[in-house]
Amino acid sequence: MRYQIVTLGCPKNTTDSDRIARTLEQSGHRAVPDREQADLVILNTCGFIDDARDESRQAAETLGAQRLPGQQVVVTGCWSQIEREQVIAIDGIDATFGIEAWREIAAHAGAVEAERDIPETSLGVGPSAYLKISDGCARPCTFCNIPGIKGRQFRSARPDALVREAQELVARGAREVVLVAQDSTAYGAEWGDANGLARLLERLAAESGADWLRLMYAYPGFVTPSLVEVMANTPQICNYLDIPLQHGSPSVLRRMKRPHNMDMVRGTLDRLRASMPDIAIRTTFIVGFPGESESEFNELRDFAAEAEFDRAGAFVYSPQNGTPAADMAGQIPDPIKEARHEQLMTLLADVSAQKNARQVGRRLPLLVESEPGQTTEDGDPIIAGRTYREAAEVDGLVLALGTAEPGEFRQVEIVDAMGHDLWAEVID
Ligand code: SF4
Repeated sequence: MRYQIVTLGCPKNTTDSDRIARTLEQSGHRAVPDREQADLVILNTCGFIDDARDESRQAAETLGAQRLPGQQVVVTGCWSQIEREQVIAIDGIDATFGIEAWREIAAHAGAVEAERDIPETSLGVGPSAYLKISDGCARPCTFCNIPGIKGRQFRSARPDALVREAQELVARGAREVVLVAQDSTAYGAEWGDANGLARLLERLAAESGADWLRLMYAYPGFVTPSLVEVMANTPQICNYLDIPLQHGSPSVLRRMKRPHNMDMVRGTLDRLRASMPDIAIRTTFIVGFPGESESEFNELRDFAAEAEFDRAGAFVYSPQNGTPAADMAGQIPDPIKEARHEQLMTLLADVSAQKNARQVGRRLPLLVESEPGQTTEDGDPIIAGRTYREAAEVDGLVLALGTAEPGEFRQVEIVDAMGHDLWAEVID
């Protein structure tokens, strides 16, 4: 069968799509670039928030409506896991699957053999590829429906399998392997290893062949001294950490059932910066959580200004069915949420622009992402890529005049900061 996968949602979903593709390839099916050529179209959906579910529904309706004679359209992923009856009711949808259903999808496609941990494959990947190190989440965050979708326990993949998977990604063209999970710092917790992530990173650095390793989704309070030490002492691990903090007010964090000791959070940021003075720290915040008073919002604003995050995102709180926060008193009216979100985003963008401006003059390796053929308005060839300070898909880009293939490294000097993105000159 010829298949095409349409992926919505976060990087963890991208790794699931990759897994589906490899399982299908193992069974003799092959990917095609055009939907018209596909016998099987697989929509991998996101169900995290209302907007994501709406986007998933619209995509399913579109694919179902555009289904060609003899073509099959199936839906998988988080939204399909939680609202399966709604999905299958959509015209043109042939089957639905929940999460981690790669083998069922392969079976549906007409052929599945016994599971092989890491199938041989010739599928290419981009310069950056995601490695999902665990799935599910046992944390009690009151706003989050992920544990309800993905399961309320951590399920860490075995280190041997992850090393093999990372080696495969590198063999297929990845230069950077990005570790993702619902909470990456919980890696190995099920088998009682408090330093499981540090150990895994050491092995991946030694055995995967990746030029860069990058860590996303660390949980405050679990950035252990050994993790910081391994990050600081291992050249392949980018001096970059994504640590979603969600708020800066202890009372809001308590209602969120998140770590609320801000001294501990400040201590973690200080330790990271003391060990890696050039580290880029990324975080995310939620604005307008139930009961968020003006003074609690101000605490968040003050904290965000003080902590000087290199990269930060902010989201407007939206109630998720089945979560404790959805039933809390004191839901904040939309106009107030929006106004606070705008205020915070302006502040975060200013801080990030200032930090970017401090990069001018630095010489750094650039991992090229852009395809050849891109030009400025004047027709000069241009490359776009990322240094260790920018994670794929969420952070800005570094642009420079020149030509290079995706996956090549170039030594550049940062010459200008443009708010979100940076401008550089190729020096090598
Ligand atoms: S740690 Fe992340 S995935 Fe887990 S419940 Fe909290 S917000 Fe959700």
